[in-house]
Amino acid sequence: MTEQFPTPVIGMEIHVELKTKSKMFCGCKNDPFGADAPNTHTCPVCLGLPGALPVPNRKAVEWTIRLALALNCSISMESKFDRKHYSYPDLPKGYQISQYDQPIGHDGYLEIGEGEKRSKIRIRRVHLEEDTGKLSHKEIDGENVSLIDFNRSSVPLVEIVTEPDMRSAEEAKEFGKKLHRIVRYSDVSDADMEKGSMRLEANVSVSEHTEITEDNLPPYKVELKNINSFRFMALAADYEIKRQREARARGEKIPQETRGWGEAKKATRLQRVKEDAQEYRYFPDPDLPPMRFKEEMVASIKKSLPPMPDTYAAQFVAAGASYESADILTDDMATAQLVAEALPLVSDGKIFINWFLRNRDTNAALSAADLAKRFADEKGSKVTDEAVIIEWVKTVVDENQNVVAEFKAGKESVLMFLVGKVQKLAAGKADAQVVMRLLRSQIDQYTRSSVAR
Ligand code: ADP
Ligand code: ZN
Ligand code: MG
Repeated sequence: MTEQFPTPVIGMEIHVELKTKSKMFCGCKNDPFGADAPNTHTCPVCLGLPGALPVPNRKAVEWTIRLALALNCSISMESKFDRKHYSYPDLPKGYQISQYDQPIGHDGYLEIGEGEKRSKIRIRRVHLEEDTGKLSHKEIDGENVSLIDFNRSSVPLVEIVTEPDMRSAEEAKEFGKKLHRIVRYSDVSDADMEKGSMRLEANVSVSEHTEITEDNLPPYKVELKNINSFRFMALAADYEIKRQREARARGEKIPQETRGWGEAKKATRLQRVKEDAQEYRYFPDPDLPPMRFKEEMVASIKKSLPPMPDTYAAQFVAAGASYESADILTDDMATAQLVAEALPLVSDGKIFINWFLRNRDTNAALSAADLAKRFADEKGSKVTDEAVIIEWVKTVVDENQNVVAEFKAGKESVLMFLVGKVQKLAAGKADAQVVMRLLRSQIDQYTRSSVAR
């Protein structure tokens, strides 16, 4: 079955709520999770009352440009808002203000993986829209009711759409995590997956081709929605890939549908069948004039971006860290920044990074200078004095003649064993390079003197 449809095809759509002070088109407080009670941060605009006029939130527009730039996008210097029509109780106006043909950002990318597996996931668009109200279904006094909270209505929401460039559930998860990091580094959203300030949707299909191009994409896709962790997303995508491979191998046609993840059954389950492509009747919102951005404005937003996780990771790998260590150190920006600042202050970057990771809990609270000092105190008071080290080396060579013989017989790997013995005598403070050099020359001399005897 795997042979018949070897290639999973995954594209993602991600929504991110911006953490601006006020909402997208009104002055209401943007605080959907912190409000004391439902429907407290509302006004005629975000309740969609007739005649209320939206005024765009400048910060939200700037932050969308910021995020788009962090994702290597081009910026549409002329952009506008469009109305996207559909009918649902959480959308009081009957349309959502969104962007159609002039998204603020387009044609970016994000890189995932390392070495041979490094790949670019293309970002098709980054656009700005408004969030909807929040529906909840409850039982009150024995009656099933649906409740709506408009505190979330018209919260600024950025949608990021990728090309279908991911080829496994693992890649989709990696993409999600990397994007999550970039959003947090950009400092435009809490990006909390559990609360829902960052929401992922994965579109999944399987193909009979090994190379996927624009022209041979599977003629369908299944949308995985309402998944609130990267782990569940990977599980759902894996399940879906298997389910689709089996169904297609049986010759079944896979319907265009939306599925969710059922953790209890560890399976995806149908939520909604998408009959025809929905007709949203997009048109420019006549209440909102088109936007035109100045080159200088975009340039200054670009300049204000901090280095992204990959930039730090490359720096750490260059200093001798493993890809895994670099990955851990770049998970949050404060840690990455701290380590990057301390690196030039320490004697050995690689040892420093490993030491930092072992003592991360206590180290993270320090300034770069204090951190470098602590490292020097604990580790950096490295013994480099050869007159001192040679005494340890002589002792070790004398006491480990069998091992020395193995080394002489050509077994290079036992040298590290001897280095370890020296470090034990030195309480780990001997300079490893010096130890190795002295061990070699001592063994060499030892050999010659024993022959002479
Ligand atoms: P629609 O017009 O149905 O919204 P789009 O072409 O806009 O479809 O794509 C929506 C999302 O689905 C994008 O993230 C895209 O990468 C992804 N996608 C498109 N075609 C496929 C496919 N055959 N398999 C998996 N994902 C796909
Ligand atoms: Zn409002
Ligand atoms: Mg679409």
